[in-house]
Parts: sequence; structure tokens; C-alpha cells
Amino acid sequence: MTGLVTSFEFFPPKTEEGKITLQKTATQLVTVHPQFFSVTFGAGGSTQTGTIEAVEMLQQKSPVPVTPHLSCVGMSRQQILETLITYQKLGATRIVALRGDIPSGMGQSSELRYASDLVKLIREATGQHFHIDVAAYPEFHPQAESAYDDVLNLKIKVEAGANSAITQYFYNPDAYFNFLDECAKCQIFVPIVPGIMPINCFAKLTRFSDACGAEIPRWIRKRLESFRDDAASIQAFGLEVVYNLCQRLLSGGAPGLHFYTLNQAEPSLNLAKMLGLLAAAPAGKLVERSSQG
Ligand code: FAD
Repeated sequence: MTGLVTSFEFFPPKTEEGKITLQKTATQLVTVHPQFFSVTFGAGGSTQTGTIEAVEMLQQKSPVPVTPHLSCVGMSRQQILETLITYQKLGATRIVALRGDIPSGMGQSSELRYASDLVKLIREATGQHFHIDVAAYPEFHPQAESAYDDVLNLKIKVEAGANSAITQYFYNPDAYFNFLDECAKCQIFVPIVPGIMPINCFAKLTRFSDACGAEIPRWIRKRLESFRDDAASIQAFGLEVVYNLCQRLLSGGAPGLHFYTLNQAEPSLNLAKMLGLLAAAPAGKLVERSSQG
């Protein structure tokens, strides 16, 4: 398959062991020849320096361009501008611009309130340097006043300068296609790449889904529950469900797939293999850029 935007999202590791895992994961995923790796950003200060370190490590050691995320919650304008300069110095030319989740007790104290404010600031400060991705929600953001307002919010982000969007994960392809229809009605024509969460661990998936408002359809939840602690059956069923989802999305015209890896290679790699996304290139290796000539 050609022309598809394939990307893999990582979180910044907190331990030495985690750093080694991320390097190994990135090495394995290089074989898919993704357009980019992305690294999440901790709203409220938790993993901000970790993001920069992880971006630096991946930029130096991987041939795949690295896209940092940046959220505006809990950041001053000055801190955002400094972070943008750091990302530019690291060679990043693409960025995922987000509001971030407001940590409990923080209130609405940020200088920039919404992701659209951040997109505007990035454009003002750096012109066209960055390709800007923003978040989109086929099942709608939990704090959106209405479904229509949430689509309108994406339009505002695009008008502020976003080039494309990556969605929150979902397991109902109709939610995505319906969202695209609503976007088209609102004259939003940027690529909207579905975010794909492989199903690997039921407990983790439930926790994430409750936190971000992504729906696990009842039939999937019930089947997963029935496997109890049988990890192999959960993974086999999860692989089949998510493979079928990806197939439906791609055959329906999705412009690519963005995988939430949780820093694990195997679930995303298995999907990529089944979907025929692996180019017939030799296995990728993490190598110092300088040694590539
Ligand atoms: P916004 O687009 O600002 O929207 C937030 C809410 O405000 C929505 O309900 C929207 O409808 C509403 N809204 C927007 N503008 C207005 C307005 N003018 N008036 C009233 N309501 C308005 N979080 C992190 O902390 N770090 C990450 O690295 C990260 N990466 C992510 C990557 C992807 C692909 C996705 C989909 C999410 C990611 N998130 C991340 C989660 C994200 O930060 C949260 O979902 C957050 O709650 C909303 O961020 P946003 O950028 O969508 O916010």
C-alpha cells in the first residue's frame, strides 16, 4: 500500500529500562517505514523534559522523522515559545498541537486555553516551519458542549493553521465515517487520520477508555471479559478486531493509520504485517544518523 500516512506514537520513558524498551520498539517499527514517530507531552509538567529527551534520542538514532507533541495546559507563552525553539533545534518539522488534560486542582489558569490558541501561537512564532497536527474526536470530546461544537472546534483549529488531524481511538468505524461527513459539511477538508489502539490488555484498555471517553462496544467488552486472565486469547481476539477495523477504515478511504503503541512494538507490528504495510526492505536498525552518510 502506498501513499498512506503511517505513524507510531510513544510516551517518554521514565526509567532506564523504559528507555531501552523504547529503543528496541522503535528499531522494530522502523521496518514499517512510517512517515513519523510521535512522542507525547505531559500536561502539567510531568513528562515535558522526558518528551524532549525521547525526541532527541529517537532523532539521533532513528532514520524516521520524530514529531513531538506539545500541549498548552499549564504552560506560559514563554515556556511554549522556548519549547518550540528546542524542537526546531532538534530538527523537528512536524508537531502535534494539543490543549492537554487539565490536572485536577489546576483550574483554567493557563495563558492559552484551547488547542486552537496554541496552533495560532505556533504559526505566529514559527511561520510555516511546522506541519501541525491536531486532535479530532469521532466519538466527541467528553467536555464538548455538543457534537456540532466539537466539529466546529476542529474547524477553528484548521483555520488557525492546522494541516491535518489525528483522531482519538475508537472501535466503531461508523463513528469515524460519520465524523468525516460532518467535517465535510463544515468545509473541513484536511486529512483526518484515525488513531488505532491495539487491544492487548483489557484492564489497561478499560482504564484508558474511561479516562478519554473512547467507547469499547459492548460486544467487544463482553468477549474480552469472557477470556478472563487468558492473555493469549485476549491478544488473538484483539488482533482480529483491530485488523478488521483498520481494513474497514482503509477500504473506506482513511488517509492512513496512527498507532498508539504504548511503547510496545509487537501489537502494532502484527497489525502492520497483516495489513501489508511492511515494505520489502531489510529489517530496520537504530543507527546513528552520522553513520548513514
Ligand atoms: P481542544 O481542541 O482545545 O478541545 C478541548 C475541549 O474544549 C473540547 O471539548 C472542545 O470541544 C472544547 N473547546 C475548544 N474550543 C472551545 C471554545 N472556544 N469554547 C468552548 N469549548 C471549546 N494529551 C496530553 O496531555 N499529551 C499528549 O501528548 C496528547 N496527545 C494526544 C494525541 C492525540 C492524537 C489525541 C487525540 C489526544 C492527545 N492527548 C494528549 C489528549 C488531549 O490533550 C485531550 O483529549 C484534551 O482533553 C483535549 O485536547 P485537544 O487538543 O483536543 O483540546
